[in-house]
Amino acid sequence: MLLRHTPTEVKERSALTVNPAKTCQPVGAMYAALGIHNCFPHSHGSQGCCAYHRSMLTRHYKEPVMAGTSSFTEGASVFGGGANLTQALHNIFTLYEPDVIAVHTTCLSETIGDDIPQIVSATKEGGKIPEGKLVIHANTPSYVGSHVTGFANMTKSMVSYLAEPTTQKEDRVNVIPGYVEPADMAEVKRIADQLGVKTILFPDTSGVLNAPQTGRHEFYPRGGATVDEIKSAGASRATLALGNLASALAAKELETKCKVPFEVLDLPIGLLATDRFVDALRKAGGVPVPESVSVERGQVLDVMTDMQQYLFQKKVALVGDPDQLIALTEFLVTLDMWPTHIVTGTPGKEFERRIEEITKDLPYHVNVKAGGDMYLFHQWIKNDKPDLIIGNTYCKYIARDEDIPLIRHGFPIVDRIGHIVFPTVGYRGALRLLEKFLDAVMDRQDRDSDERSVELVM
Ligand code: SF4
Repeated sequence: MLLRHTPTEVKERSALTVNPAKTCQPVGAMYAALGIHNCFPHSHGSQGCCAYHRSMLTRHYKEPVMAGTSSFTEGASVFGGGANLTQALHNIFTLYEPDVIAVHTTCLSETIGDDIPQIVSATKEGGKIPEGKLVIHANTPSYVGSHVTGFANMTKSMVSYLAEPTTQKEDRVNVIPGYVEPADMAEVKRIADQLGVKTILFPDTSGVLNAPQTGRHEFYPRGGATVDEIKSAGASRATLALGNLASALAAKELETKCKVPFEVLDLPIGLLATDRFVDALRKAGGVPVPESVSVERGQVLDVMTDMQQYLFQKKVALVGDPDQLIALTEFLVTLDMWPTHIVTGTPGKEFERRIEEITKDLPYHVNVKAGGDMYLFHQWIKNDKPDLIIGNTYCKYIARDEDIPLIRHGFPIVDRIGHIVFPTVGYRGALRLLEKFLDAVMDRQDRDSDERSVELVM
């Protein structure tokens, strides 16, 4: 197998990444842009970048992801891509009639230093942007951050370009859902509906990247936050930003621009993080928590108590995006499981600080690394073998080589489909995660038990 020769000796590396545990900023920016209804994402760079971003998203969501490209050739690479972008904006509005085009940059256009607002404004002055149509943009140089940073930058741009300040406040809460699956975004809305809190959720990829098969191709599926909704986010009573890295930037921008106070929460993954989200919604909306939500919580608690002995002190190695890993680690600790190796490819010391805080009472040293890679992750696994791996599809090589069960979670998952339709946020999501943890642990127990000790009933 490909990774069988990974050595156990861990050496300090500062200028070399082997098998990155992240992808590039424009992937996240494109994903966020798809969460606006009638929006056409546009990649300002070479065709190869755009093809890569589209293919990553298409393979993960199993939906055709449309996006334009400025199609840089040698000329644009030397003299700048202004003319290409002007032509592209004109073509897209003429042919595909979106309400808004969301432009993100790439390594190449960032290195050249193309000034997107200046190019867009010249295009508008030249009459090539139809009346009432909008262009927003985010700078997404891929030599900084990761796809999560790109998501955060594009979400912030939605606020900078679209949200309108007003003194007329409405009885409503903005929710910025973070870099989560479309199914998770739908679940966040369902929880808010259960509480009876009116929300504006943006970006919202539910109904866009998990749209039903209707037999007809919809160029712009029904889902997504409308431009009008994002415009009116400035009138909301408060903003809840889920996931510090993916959502806090936009929430701060909304506070600065429209004076909407915000609270940053962890992604509502697991019991405690969901409790905090429900509590924040309750306070922001001024509503009580209904019985139906308490029932769902009680069911999670019931499974946790019934099955605790199977999960107790099971060692888990996790790799993925920082906001996801923070909430997942907390959930594992709540379940008395033992997170041992935790790697994110996204840089940022705050991540390591949060993980250390969550795991501070565990009776062993937890390996944690921000800006790490899959190579280091594999080395740590070789040195201290966990009972479970949680990570994206690329982990399957490590899982196979080391004979460890793998739970697929994160981005990208290109060889399974559950993530498209089943949420992992909220109490329902916690139940799904519990089921996955238990299936993985108990399938392995059944496989490895000798005949006399195979248990039929738990
Ligand atoms: S060149 Fe940069 S923007 Fe393009 S695919 Fe590579 S990392 Fe992403």
